[in-house]
Amino acid sequence: MQQNMLEVLRRRIHEVNAAPDLQHALSIIVSRVKQDIAVDAASVYLTTPDGEELVLMATDGLNQDAVGKVRLKHGEGLVGTVCERAEPVNINDARKHPRYKRVRNLGIAAMHGFLGVPIIQHRQVLGVLVVRQKATRRFGASEVTFLVTLAAQLAGPISHAKATGGVAQLLHEVGATSFMLSGLPGAPGVAVGPASVVYPPAVLERVPDRAVTDTAQEEKTFLAAVKAVQDDIKQFSERMKGVLPEEDLALFNVYVMMLGSDSLIDKSVERIRAGNWAPGALRTTIAEHVRVFEEMDDPYLRERASDISDLGRRILVRLQSTSVTAPLVSQRTILIGDEVSAVHLAEIPTEMLAAVVSARGSTSSHVAILANALGIPAVMGVEDLPASFLDGQELIVDGYRGQVHIRPTERVREEFERLEAEEADLASGLAELVPLKAETPDGVHVPLYVNTGLLADISPSLQSGADGIGLYRTEIPFMVRDGFPTEDDQVRIYKQVLDSFAPSPVTIRTLDVGGDKMLPYFPVEEDNPFLGWRGIRLMLDHPEIFLVQLRAILRANIGLNNLQLMLPMISDVREVDDTLELINRARDELIEEGFEVKLPPIGVMIEVPSAVYQMDGLAKRVDFFSVGTNDLTQYLLAVDRNNARVAELYEALHPAVVHALKQIIDTAHAYGIPVSVCGEMAGDPAAALLLLGLGVDSMSMTVGSLSRVKWVLRSITAAQAQGLARTALALESADEIRGLLVSVLEDAGLGGLVRAGK
Ligand code: PEP
Ligand code: MG
Repeated sequence: MQQNMLEVLRRRIHEVNAAPDLQHALSIIVSRVKQDIAVDAASVYLTTPDGEELVLMATDGLNQDAVGKVRLKHGEGLVGTVCERAEPVNINDARKHPRYKRVRNLGIAAMHGFLGVPIIQHRQVLGVLVVRQKATRRFGASEVTFLVTLAAQLAGPISHAKATGGVAQLLHEVGATSFMLSGLPGAPGVAVGPASVVYPPAVLERVPDRAVTDTAQEEKTFLAAVKAVQDDIKQFSERMKGVLPEEDLALFNVYVMMLGSDSLIDKSVERIRAGNWAPGALRTTIAEHVRVFEEMDDPYLRERASDISDLGRRILVRLQSTSVTAPLVSQRTILIGDEVSAVHLAEIPTEMLAAVVSARGSTSSHVAILANALGIPAVMGVEDLPASFLDGQELIVDGYRGQVHIRPTERVREEFERLEAEEADLASGLAELVPLKAETPDGVHVPLYVNTGLLADISPSLQSGADGIGLYRTEIPFMVRDGFPTEDDQVRIYKQVLDSFAPSPVTIRTLDVGGDKMLPYFPVEEDNPFLGWRGIRLMLDHPEIFLVQLRAILRANIGLNNLQLMLPMISDVREVDDTLELINRARDELIEEGFEVKLPPIGVMIEVPSAVYQMDGLAKRVDFFSVGTNDLTQYLLAVDRNNARVAELYEALHPAVVHALKQIIDTAHAYGIPVSVCGEMAGDPAAALLLLGLGVDSMSMTVGSLSRVKWVLRSITAAQAQGLARTALALESADEIRGLLVSVLEDAGLGGLVRAGK
């Protein structure tokens, strides 16, 4: 076996990866391993989500009925010992070992030889792979190596299944009672309540093709169905009036617009005219569109695929002339489903909605944006959500962590009910802060701005009492189109943003595409996109695109004068010189054309470490700085901000980041230049306390975090925060720094801000 061990391993790994799910993968592995090293039994145990027990998940050679029933505590028996020691245990005669434990009805009584290896990922024992022999047997080095290598390969899929809830679901299937599933935080908040499942109203994918002769009649029926869906959505949108601010209703316009889109409707009509019946024509057209969107790299655009499927299903329901049925709800309920849409949300009276959980989707989904606007917690992208068997079951939704607890234990439920009540108190406390200034008790005013890129965010931002917009990410309007927006298009969008906040300042950032934000119509292939053609680099290489944007931004500011212009990804002073030249050129051209434009204050983002060391040169060239801690953290710590494998290392409170912040703020102030922080860090109440102490002049964050941070600022003096920052600068780990900040918040009675949010 030694010679072909690599080949066997390769085949086993392939089989694991090709298995439809984890349970199949485990069953395949035990039967193959049993043959590969000629043993009498092979088994896999997995640790429960709380890490306290090991459960037998698959076996070949032991009693099959024991699967899911045999449970061992950490350290119990030989399998528990492998888990506890986190290293292989190889024993000639298991029954003579002091740790041997007889387990009834398992079938190990006749077994002597034992080899167990841990399955480890990120230093965590996920389970144990065990082989047993009836005869006494000490396994050879090559057999141990084989099993260890195989276990390491199994760790990836198990850890993925664990992260997405697959392991929890498996454990549930084998009899565990309560379990937890993980997804993405879609909207903050916690909720406890019964689940109500939204079923897709029709299965479009299964519609067959069917020939029709009266194509004219078929076309008429189709257009009537489209019109009916358009009317439905307008009606839902109407219902949301008064509940949602005007701008947010724009979400529904996207649906209505899609229904009016030539390609969606005309393509279907073309197919009907070619002789297919309407449902068949619709199926092909929708599938075509969904495929195009699903293949897009940009997460916002990918999400539009689900909007299109939803519309397709709605039209089909109309074609089948049944009415769209919303789940009947008689009490506050948690809406769950494979693909919950914004329209599903609108179908249910808002006061009946406790939370939303969707198997598909992400933070950019309309339903998440809507949930945010309504203040309802949401968890998106729960890949393994077993929606069909959860109807009516009790759930806990934790929108902060992106977790769903199914049939929670009494203890967990009580904890969350307490949190929910605390949240409600917090929300009423936070609401009172809206008209108040973000000022410390010793009179230091730190304006709080919002980060946005969606027009839908504007009204909640205004209602939150924000002092302006600290970061308007222009890439979002560029991403949602199928070509570069024209100068006039851009003027319209920017003007709307500037106008809604005037005279408060609005910081518009020039296009920052590249990295993980790609324009579907401008693809760039790179091995290392975060170190590649990104932000200002790309724009300077394409003055024909950059100048159009600069002209549009300057024109949008005419008559308003609340614009601040910001440049992303600056890593060298020459980039600023080149950009300033282009800005001046755009201004001169516009003046020549008769536009009365003025140069706004111009600032740069400090988000690349090289910029931290060129603060002197930058300070001579610009009017303000804004620290992008999202990128600064990833570049300083060499940790990809989107890579789950190293997510634990991504920490904005790392001492290196904190020292860099101090250097940035001190240097800027020596030149009399204000510094803002617009990375996610500013929205974290504990980190905001540190930023106050380090002396930042303003902070910019997502709208949902604003009042929490305001509460911190209004509760703790700048003098106390400065002392705290001095102590933090002497600490050596992010954990210690966070611990220090949290303890101060708790002492000030603000523990709720970090408890619920972290
Ligand atoms: C940042 O990097 O901190 C930032 C605010 O910009 P973005 O998240 O858009 O890269
Ligand atoms: Mg950035």
